[in-house]
Parts: sequence; C-alpha cells; structure tokens
Amino acid sequence: MNTVQKENVPLTVLVIEDHPDQRDLLAIVLQREGYRVITAANGVEALERLETEKVQIALSDIMMPKMDGFELIKRIRSNPTLKNIYLILITARIQEGDRVRGLDLGADDYITKPFSFSELLARIRVGSRVVQYQQHLEYQTQVDSLTGLFNRRAFEKKIQEEFERSKRYRNPLSLLILDIDNFKMINDTYGHHGGDAALVKISETFREKTRQSDFPSRYGGEEFVLVLPETDQDSALQVAGKIHEAIRSCAFGTTARPFTLTVSIGVSSTSARFYTDWRELLDDADRALYLAKNSGKDRIEIWEPEKRTGQIQTSVHP
Ligand code: GH3
Ligand code: MG
Ligand code: MG
Ligand code: MG
Repeated sequence: MNTVQKENVPLTVLVIEDHPDQRDLLAIVLQREGYRVITAANGVEALERLETEKVQIALSDIMMPKMDGFELIKRIRSNPTLKNIYLILITARIQEGDRVRGLDLGADDYITKPFSFSELLARIRVGSRVVQYQQHLEYQTQVDSLTGLFNRRAFEKKIQEEFERSKRYRNPLSLLILDIDNFKMINDTYGHHGGDAALVKISETFREKTRQSDFPSRYGGEEFVLVLPETDQDSALQVAGKIHEAIRSCAFGTTARPFTLTVSIGVSSTSARFYTDWRELLDDADRALYLAKNSGKDRIEIWEPEKRTGQIQTSVHP
C-alpha cells in the first residue's frame, strides 16, 4: 500500500445462524443490498472465518450448538484484531434477559425475532455508519495532512510489523531516511507556502519512485522515511539513488521563481548487520543521514561502524 486509502469497498457482514434456511435467507437479503456476506453455523465456525476474512459487521443468533452467541461476543471483544466489529444480536422477543446480557457483554445492538427485513437493513445501515466513522478516524490518525503520506505513528507501527516479519521469514528489510538540504533557507527565501509546496512535491516524487509494497511516510518536518520490505542493502541503495536523482532534477517553486533542491539520505538494512530491535535499524539510518550531512550533504550514505575508525567514510553517491 503506497498511500493511505479510505476504504470504499463494500462492507462485509458475517451471518452466524445455526438454522440453514434462516442463514441463507439473511445472506440473500444482505447480498441484494450490496453487502459482501459470509456465513457460519455457530460461534466456533464464526471464529474460524474471522481468522481469514476481514469482517466489519457480525449478525449473530444467540442459541447455537458448539458455541453460543454470548461466548462468541466475549471472544470477539477480547481479541484486539476483532474488537471493532459491529455486533448485532438476534434475540427472541420474550428473552429480555438475553438482550441485556448480550449488550453488557459488548454487543452493539440487537434485533428481536420475528423481524422485518426493512428493520434488519435499517439496523445494518446504522452499523455501517458507525464502522465508516471508525475507519475515517483511523485514517485520520495515520495520515499526514499536508502530504497525504503516512505519518510517524503509522510508520512506527509498520516498521515494527515488518521487522518481526523479516525476522520470522528471514527476508531482508531496509530503511531509508531522507532529509531536505538547507530547507530553512527555502522557507526564508520563498516563504512558508513555498516550503510547503516543495514538501508536497517531494512527497509525490517519493511515492512515484517506490513500489506498492514500500511504505513512504513523513517522519516529521522535512524528514521522510521509507520502509522497504524484502529489500537488501544493494537494492535499497538503488532505490535511494533513484529518489535522490529524481528530486535533484525536479523543478520546484513557480515558473516565475523556480528553484532546485537536494536531499541527503541515510540507508540501513538487516542484510548488512544483525539487529535485535527495529529501533537499532532506525538509529543506523539516522547515523548514516548525519554522516551524509557532515560529508557535505546532497548524497546517500550507509553507516558502517567497523569502518569508522577515524577514516573518511566513502560516500556511496555521488
Ligand atoms: P540541513 O541541510 O542540515 O538539513 O538544514 P535544514 O535547514 O534543512 O535543517 P533544519 O533542521 O535547520 O531546518 C529544518 C527546517 O524545516 C526548519 C523548519 O522551519 C522547516 N520545516 C519543518 N516542517 C515544515 C513544514 O511543515 N513546512 C515548512 N514550510 N517548513 C517546515
Ligand atoms: Mg439458533
Ligand atoms: Mg531535518
Ligand atoms: Mg534539512
């Protein structure tokens, strides 16, 4: 995922009902309304489906063999990856105690049998609104408002996940930190708006030069980070070279007052050293960036501690 996308795909509803005819009927009614529907005959099956399917709304019967609706609610609410599912219970009209218990356990709503399909669909629409609002909030917490790139919070979550994945599957993982050279001067000369426009343009270049699986984010101010899963140091240096060159040849500012920019890039990779923690990988990219700055800016560096014995580090580019 290269940019943050708002989810516009149809919502998925999981129908959990032990009675096959009722289950099929509910599925047909919901599908006709445009929902993606998956089904389960009891709580155990529902949890199995939830392991592989991304579900936003669950519509669950209470009385079912193997695992009933109450136990299912408890399991869903105690699982961090499932706890945001909007849960509607199907209850019998006479069982007020069940409805209260279900809501207390964490159900969002209930519908009493027998119900009309129009009422069911109205309740599903309420659930859809809640889910979409939650997704919107989630999006807001992950995206940088100026550039539309992921923000630092999203980056930290992503690098942790990718670091764990890289350890588990023994795939290399690389990281790139990019800092605009002399950006303070750009703001001083072309104003804060000119600076902002340059940040937006750099973000676009950053996005264009990266693959779908890469994760470009704005780390803060005029610093950007790029997570490169399944990429070793050599390939990461190639990516850095492409970005460095693309930004160098980019025209910033207006046609009346154009200007150019350069960037310094620090690169680190699990293919070059053994890391026990993602923060060490980030620290090394940061050290490499400082090296690039101290060596004259407008270049790409890696950090090689074994070579740092008072000798001059050779710059990788240009
Ligand atoms: P260096 O080459 O050493 O990186 O120098 P620099 O001037 O780029 O670095 P410094 O850290 O001194 O200044 C960073 C500047 O970036 C200062 C700050 O005003 C500017 N900046 C940070 N965030 C924004 C932003 O959102 N918009 C604009 N226009 N400027 C920003
Ligand atoms: Mg039943
Ligand atoms: Mg900086
Ligand atoms: Mg800078």
